[in-house]
Amino acid sequence: MIVSILGARPQFVKAAAVSRALAEAGIDEKIVHTGQHFDDNMSDVFFRELGISAPALNLGIGGGSHGQNTGRMLEAIERALIDFKADHALVYGDTDSTLAGALAASKLHIPVAHVEAGLRSFNRQMPEEINRVVTDHVSDVLFAPTQTAMTNLAREGLTHCHLVGDVMYDVALHYGAQAEARSTPIAGLPAEFALATVHRASNTDDPVLLAAILEGFEKSPLPVVLPLHPRTRKMIGSFGLAIPARVIVCPPVGFLDMVWLERRARVILTDSGGVQKEAYFQGVPCVTLREETEWTELVEAGWNRLCPPTSARAIVTAIEEALASSPEPVTLYGDGNAAGKIAAILAGRA
Ligand code: UDP
Repeated sequence: MIVSILGARPQFVKAAAVSRALAEAGIDEKIVHTGQHFDDNMSDVFFRELGISAPALNLGIGGGSHGQNTGRMLEAIERALIDFKADHALVYGDTDSTLAGALAASKLHIPVAHVEAGLRSFNRQMPEEINRVVTDHVSDVLFAPTQTAMTNLAREGLTHCHLVGDVMYDVALHYGAQAEARSTPIAGLPAEFALATVHRASNTDDPVLLAAILEGFEKSPLPVVLPLHPRTRKMIGSFGLAIPARVIVCPPVGFLDMVWLERRARVILTDSGGVQKEAYFQGVPCVTLREETEWTELVEAGWNRLCPPTSARAIVTAIEEALASSPEPVTLYGDGNAAGKIAAILAGRA
């Protein structure tokens, strides 16, 4: 029995590919949802649209500090792993749910498999970086999406690593046609637009950077469509900032609507890890509103450019440069069957 620990939007997207591959390989899986994301449009819509089995258990933990959440999850996941007689725990990415799942299982001597292992920003100010490093070091099987990730793991002396490719590429291939068949999620969408997402703490928790981002979006050469993450909405309110009238703001959209928007955007502006890669999967240039990225290959290939959002002018210049760029196609994230490879390796360990 594999017990998968999920809690946040990017994990639901990744699990869509892996859970399907586990079922096809005849592997029993139970999903524990920590409750980190709980709104319909941050959680349930992904289970519905992507055909992920309903969680066997929802811990309903969220809303606290990193320490509070991780501690409460650790205790509850330990109980779930015992109750469900887990022989492996499967964790994804870099959230507090990932860390709590990996710690709970490793302390019970239940092997931990980590999907999206080896990602590094080399910035320990990011809560995600702490989660990734600790998770990789207590895991027994590391599924790396890229050669860069494999090199990072080797540098830290970690073995049991498998270069499988990126499960998000599997997802992009699998759901592309379904997303394309949808109708517009936003009434009155302009013919040409930039699509933006912002939710990293380094941006949302800094009033100067958040104000510069909003001003950069206002002055963007193309109107910006902004499905607004609840944390960002909250911080805009608590800093007393205003969303400029020219920005087309909406609540977070479901995954298929997001892909529909990505495919039509002329440029994507984001601080999301997943959205940087989806931009590339859909052939759209990207501006990453951060100082560094874990997905360095896309910067090297010219698909992505880093823009620390220190001023509106810097953001506008980066958007102009991205719009003028014409990067060449490259093969970076595997063959679209990363999840199948993960399932085969896990089946071999059963
Ligand atoms: N996403 C979505 N709706 C939105 C914004 C993002 O479905 O309104 C999807 C996006 O397509 C990607 C995933 O959420 O698959 C990325 O999650 P997020 O940006 O929250 O996390 P990160 O990738 O930075 O860990």
